[in-house]
Amino acid sequence: ASGYALLRDPHFNKGLAFTEKERDAHYLRGLLPPTVICQETQVNKMIQNIRQYEVPLQKYIAMMDLQERNERLFYRLLIDHVEELLPIVYTPTVGEACQKYGSIFMRPQGLYISLKEKGRILEVLRNWPEKNVQVIVVTDGERILGLGDLGCHGMGIPVGKLSLYTALGGVRPSSCLPITIDVGTNNEKLLGEELYIGLKHRRATGQEYAELIDEFMTAAKQNYGEKLLIQFEDFANHNAFDLLERYRSTHLVFNDDIQGTASVVLAGIVSALNLVGGNLGDHRFLFFGAGEAGTGIASLIALEISKRTNSPLDEVRKNIWLVDSKGLIVSSRKESLQHFKKPWAHEHEPVEKLVDAVNQIKPTVLIGTSGHGKTFTQEVVEAMASNNEKPIILALSNPTTQSECTAEEAYNWTKGRAIFASGSPFPSVEYDGKVFMPGQSNNAYIFPGFGLGLIMSGTIRVHDDLLLAASEALASQVTQEHYDKGLIYPPFTNIRKISANIAALVAAKAYELGLATRLPQPKNMLNFAESCMYTPTYRNYR
Ligand code: NAP
Ligand code: MN
Repeated sequence: ASGYALLRDPHFNKGLAFTEKERDAHYLRGLLPPTVICQETQVNKMIQNIRQYEVPLQKYIAMMDLQERNERLFYRLLIDHVEELLPIVYTPTVGEACQKYGSIFMRPQGLYISLKEKGRILEVLRNWPEKNVQVIVVTDGERILGLGDLGCHGMGIPVGKLSLYTALGGVRPSSCLPITIDVGTNNEKLLGEELYIGLKHRRATGQEYAELIDEFMTAAKQNYGEKLLIQFEDFANHNAFDLLERYRSTHLVFNDDIQGTASVVLAGIVSALNLVGGNLGDHRFLFFGAGEAGTGIASLIALEISKRTNSPLDEVRKNIWLVDSKGLIVSSRKESLQHFKKPWAHEHEPVEKLVDAVNQIKPTVLIGTSGHGKTFTQEVVEAMASNNEKPIILALSNPTTQSECTAEEAYNWTKGRAIFASGSPFPSVEYDGKVFMPGQSNNAYIFPGFGLGLIMSGTIRVHDDLLLAASEALASQVTQEHYDKGLIYPPFTNIRKISANIAALVAAKAYELGLATRLPQPKNMLNFAESCMYTPTYRNYR
C-alpha cells in the first residue's frame, strides 16, 4: 500500500485530516506537513479561499479542482454552504463553464461516447472504474441551458447535475456516472475553435443518431441492470420527446427538462395558491416558450387539475395557453405544429406578440420557458399586474442572462405585487421599504430526491404519478414562515431534508403502483430514505 497513492485518490484522500495513527499505518509519514486538522477546519479554510475569488468561473474551477482532490471535502463544503455554492457548481456559473469548457478542461469527469465509439459502447462503459452505477445523467449537448448547442462542452451539465444528486439527494458519488454523447455540433463557433474538445463536424442525425443512442441505451442496461436510472438532460426538443417515448417502457428513464421541471413548477404554483387564493383549476396559465419545459409543465398541471376536479384533460387544457416563436398556439396552426404542441392548440384568432396574448388570454400565471432573456418586458409585466391583484410570474430560463426578466423588474413593475420565482437565483430586492425574496424555481429541488426515491425502492419505470408525488412532497415543505416572505419554495438550506421527504413519497407511490422491486417494503419510508443517504464525513482508516 502506498501512502502517496492514497493522497492522490480523491475517494480516499483526507489531506491534513489524516490522523497520527493513519499516517503511521498507511505510509503517510513525511508526505504531509506535521499538523493535523479536522474536516470542519478544512471546510472553513476552503470556503474562505473560494470567497477570495471574485470571478464566479474561478470559484467553479476551484470547486472542480477540490472534487478531483478530495471528494468528501468537496461534498461537505457544498452541503454546508449550499445556497452560496449552488450558483457556482450549477446555474448560472456552470453555463459559463460549458461555454469555456475547452479552455478550462483539466480531467475527464465522466464518459465521452462519440461516433468513434460506435459498436464498442459496452467496452467504453466497462472502462469506467465504478461497477455499481445507479444513475447516469446523459446529454448530447444540443440545448445546454438556454445557451444552445455546446456540443461536447455540454459535459459540465451532467457533471454538475450528478454532484447535486450526491450533495442534495444523498446518492453515493460512486453510483453516479456523467455521460456526454458526441455526434458532432452545429455550433459554427465551436467548430472553428482550436480548443474544442469534441468531434469537429456537424451533428449526425436520423438513423445514424438513433443507432448510437440505441446502442448506448442497450449497453447501459446490459452493464448496470434494469434498475439503472438514466436521466436525459439538455437534449434538443426534436429528440427529447421521442427518446422519452421510445425508452419509457423498456428503461428507467426520466427527462429532467420535461418532467423534473414540470414537477418543481407545479409544486411552486400549488404553494402559491396559499398566497393568491383560489383552486388550481380556477387559474389561467400562459407559457412563453412551448418546448420541453413549457409543454412538460403544462401537461403535468393539466393532469393534476384533471385529477383534482375530476374533469377530462381536454376540458382542463382549455385554461392553459402557450406561445412559441410564432406567437400564440392556436388551432388554425395545428397542421404545422410539432406533435408536443398539438394538445395546446385552442380556438382563438392568431396573436403574435406576448403582450397582446397576455391582454387577451388574461392569465393569472405567466411562465417563461423560452430560453430568451429580457422578453418579459415592462409592458408584459404591467399587463399581468393590471389584470391580477397578485400575478404569478415565473421566469424559468437559465442561466441568468436568459431569464425572461429579473427579480427587480418583476417587483418594480408590479409595485411589489408579483409572486415571482426564477430558474437561476436572484438576490433579494428592496421595493418601497420592503424586502422581497425571490424563490428559485429549479428542477434541482426535485431530481435529487426523485432519483433517490427511485433508487432506494428499486423502481423500474417512471410513471407520471411519481412526478405528482414529488411535487406534492415539495409543496408540503413550504411553511407559513416562507409564505410570509412571499416565498413559494423552501430555501435550499434544508434541501437534504426536503429530498428525503420527496424520496419517501415517490418510493411510497412506486410501491403502491407495483413499480418498486425492493422487498420487503420499508415500514417507515422517510427513515429509510434518510438511512440511504450518503454523508461525506471522513472515514477512519485503521
Ligand atoms: P426548447 O424545448 O428549445 O423550447 C424553447 C421554446 O421557446 C420553443 O417553443 C421556442 O419556440 C420558444 N421560443 C424561443 N425563442 C422565442 C421567442 N423569442 N419568442 C417566443 N418563443 C420563443 O427548450 P426547453 O427545454 O423548454 O428550455 C427552455 C428554457 O428553459 C432554457 O433556458 C432552459 O434553461 C430553461 N429550463 C429551466 C428549468 C428550470 O428548472 N428552471 C428546467 C428546464 C429548462 P419554437 O418552438 O417556435 O422554436
Ligand atoms: Mn436541463
